[in-house]
Amino acid sequence: MGFFLNRKDENCTIIVGCGRLGANLANTLSDAGESVIIIDRYKDAFRKLSPSFSGIVITGDATEIFVLGEAQIEKATAVISVTNNDNTNILVAQIAKEYFHIRHVIARLYDPERECIYRDFDIDTICPAVLSAKEVEKLLHITGIGREAV
Ligand code: AMP
Repeated sequence: MGFFLNRKDENCTIIVGCGRLGANLANTLSDAGESVIIIDRYKDAFRKLSPSFSGIVITGDATEIFVLGEAQIEKATAVISVTNNDNTNILVAQIAKEYFHIRHVIARLYDPERECIYRDFDIDTICPAVLSAKEVEKLLHITGIGREAV
């Protein structure tokens, strides 16, 4: 487990999952001067953070309400859940939105078919498969390969 915070900053972004995407996001936001708290269930995951990362790290399972409580989720402006598990991301996003009324909530979803469910909950989703497909499509058009398909 991490430690209890003594945070006065009300403008904080909580990132759940310090994997390739989460660490990248945390480094970028931190370098831009944003206040960041990042949660991962494995302490080792934080090695992906850059030496200049100035945020707070919390080790714990984000599906446990006390871990989110430790991060003082109620004070967050945004919660971004980018673990490698859709169910975890969905659960964290719903807790953030429905229970803590966090303004900006974003969840990564591997399964594109689940995306439509979250439109009704005011939860933004990013779907790597859909984004990648769009990028590939763009690249094909740039090189001319996809022109016939237009
Ligand atoms: P990646 O697949 O590289 O984006 O990594 C996903 C990260 O999410 C890993 O570092 C996992 O340890 C982390 N993760 C998965 N489930 C949870 C969870 N329930 N709570 C906190 N972190 C998690």
